[in-house]
Amino acid sequence: MRLKLSSSLERRVLVKNKHCCCICQNDGYGKEVLVHHINGNNSNNVESNLAILCLVHASQADAGLKKGKLGSGKKLKPDAIKLYKKLWQRKVEHEQQHRREFLDLKERKQFEILFKFEIHKTMYLILSLKDTDKRVLESFDYLDQFIAEDFTSGIDIRTILVDAFSNISFHNFHSIEIIPCRLAKSIGELLSYYSGVTNPTSSKEKYIFNECLIILEDLGEDAAKYEGGTSVLKAVCQAMFDFAEQISWQDLVTEKKKLLSTFEKIHKACSEYKHGDVGYKKEIMNRQATVQEFLNNTKIVYEEGRIEALRFKKFLKNYKNGRK
Ligand SMILES: [Zn+2]
Repeated sequence: MRLKLSSSLERRVLVKNKHCCCICQNDGYGKEVLVHHINGNNSNNVESNLAILCLVHASQADAGLKKGKLGSGKKLKPDAIKLYKKLWQRKVEHEQQHRREFLDLKERKQFEILFKFEIHKTMYLILSLKDTDKRVLESFDYLDQFIAEDFTSGIDIRTILVDAFSNISFHNFHSIEIIPCRLAKSIGELLSYYSGVTNPTSSKEKYIFNECLIILEDLGEDAAKYEGGTSVLKAVCQAMFDFAEQISWQDLVTEKKKLLSTFEKIHKACSEYKHGDVGYKKEIMNRQATVQEFLNNTKIVYEEGRIEALRFKKFLKNYKNGRK
């Protein structure tokens, strides 16, 4: 069965690629594009497996996935697409930084004030609502939409957002579930725009990453200790695992380590659960098992990513030699 691509993931990949085919690049502006699964597995919806291609290049990519020498048309191999995607996304990011530098200062300030106002207003609304109020989810959806704006407008919206999320998480969540669960999801969304590879020295990226992890750690530890926290615990672990999967084949040693240690801290916090009476020891074990499973899966994707990165490096070396 083909697993559906989530709309937020689709939006993210499109934004990062400027809605252009990663092979046509700027020349493809306005062309019809689709989200292509690089390894041919349409259910493998991780970001590293998705590329934006125009219809012509998508059909060449499909041909490149078929074994044998059938057909005489042009073929695009998965590794080649990965390379094009990497180079194109890097270019898009540079363009964005360039625009940031040259955007009219006054105009940028006005936009920033407007975004800040909207984000803060929504943050206070969330803090004033009951956990079960349906406006909670709507408000988080609204905030999530700003994440991609950071890329398109060149304004530091993610920094404003992470501070707002941090404010929300600072409030006491014992005994409530929907807000912290949804918050964890938004943090995952924010992390999915992390560009520590193309932009390793950026203090903004580092700040966002660290803040996100602190929020997840707080939410996770809190949920681990208190009654009814199981769904929050899962949401937190899921957000961390998704990020681990995203960065698995990249050379982000510090980030990977931090993620593992956050899992371990949350795992440890489970032992402080003391509610209920006779059943509480079993509950501790259940919670620890939940966290442990995510932790194990994270280690597995790290290892898979390491192997994939090695293979890709080999391909790059051959590619460069071939061009000499
Ligand atoms: Zn194309």
